[in-house]
Amino acid sequence: MRIHFLGGVREVGGSCIAVETDYGKVALDYGIKVGEKVSDQFPKDFDAVIISHAHLDHSGNLLSLSRGNPVIIGSRITRDVTTDLLRDMIKIQNMNGNHFPYNNQDADNIKKSWWIRDSVALLGMSIQLYPAGHVAGAKMTSIHVEGKEILYTGDFCLHDTEILEGSKPEKLPQKPDALIIESTYGGKVRLPRNKLVDQLFKQILRTIERKGNVLIPAFAFHRSQEMAKRIDQAMEDGILPNYNVYTISPLAHKITGYFNNYKQFFTREIQQQKQPFNYRHVKHLHRTGQIREPAIVICTSGFGHAGASLRLLTEWAADEDNSVVINSGYLPPESPLRIAKEKRELIKNGNKIPVQAEVKQIELSGHADQGELIQLVEALEPKRTFLVHGELEQAELLSEKISGITEVYVPERHETISM
Ligand SMILES: [Zn+2]
Repeated sequence: MRIHFLGGVREVGGSCIAVETDYGKVALDYGIKVGEKVSDQFPKDFDAVIISHAHLDHSGNLLSLSRGNPVIIGSRITRDVTTDLLRDMIKIQNMNGNHFPYNNQDADNIKKSWWIRDSVALLGMSIQLYPAGHVAGAKMTSIHVEGKEILYTGDFCLHDTEILEGSKPEKLPQKPDALIIESTYGGKVRLPRNKLVDQLFKQILRTIERKGNVLIPAFAFHRSQEMAKRIDQAMEDGILPNYNVYTISPLAHKITGYFNNYKQFFTREIQQQKQPFNYRHVKHLHRTGQIREPAIVICTSGFGHAGASLRLLTEWAADEDNSVVINSGYLPPESPLRIAKEKRELIKNGNKIPVQAEVKQIELSGHADQGELIQLVEALEPKRTFLVHGELEQAELLSEKISGITEVYVPERHETISM
């Protein structure tokens, strides 16, 4: 049996790993890099493609398989959100006037090719999916083949969040022969989530006291719903006073509908609520013109480079009463949010706008931090561990910490390991 590391090694983005025997070949994820287009860089002759979750860096290249009758395996919510994100990608490419060789029919073909399963037997491989935390519907994948056990984590999180349970190491295959683990935050230790949520509420309260606006750029899938639910619940509990709160994103709004329909993916508390994502204090708007200020606005895009978040960032940045809360850990180098935070300026039509608003980064991330990464390795005691989905520096920092427990390896792109 062979493992080929095709993408998403020594970097974040474009994840794809092949597991191959003499009888069959499956892909673990089929992603694109942020800002890159769908390409034919990965082989297409897979018997099945298993998608860990609906983020495009794990699923965005599926369009390149859309005309070849692929077998795609993953959860229902991953299927539905992936289809919507692929359609959104097609829309953006067309809007930008790019010649994009795929259309909505291709996105729908991906949806039709999907097997919603947690357990599949295929060509001598026994494939099993386990909850991974991270985002709704995210799964880890184990493949039992030729007497060996491989566990691929995809992106994961061990701690519970307000809406999602963390992955449970005790329910995963113990002592796997190979653990392929993400290392996004291999060198980073974060504050506990409750401390970060306190910071968020303090920032919101401080802004409310001066009657300012709070802009919270968030991804349409999961982070937007999680943030809206968190603020809604805090207002319900009296932790935050009543204030105008809005979400603006047609895509996020559509995904919120899935969240109400597929409650089984969420915590027990969420499951007990009738329509958990029909918020009481948070209103959905179609455009920024409908905002009644002062307000808290959760909107796309998550990096502030387009849509309502870019518009509001440009409008609100000059006023020192306002706040911008960044909840992503990673920011692309050229993203407006990063420039606003680091250089305290924005560029609009070639002109510099000074940023007077408070810009605060509070990393309410869905990824395991270094402590959780080590915790998983300690719990599973894998024979060999391959670090993927992380910059080399992050992978090396993690490698140092776990080399006493397991044989660690940071593969290179296109490297093949035989087992
Ligand atoms: Zn992810």
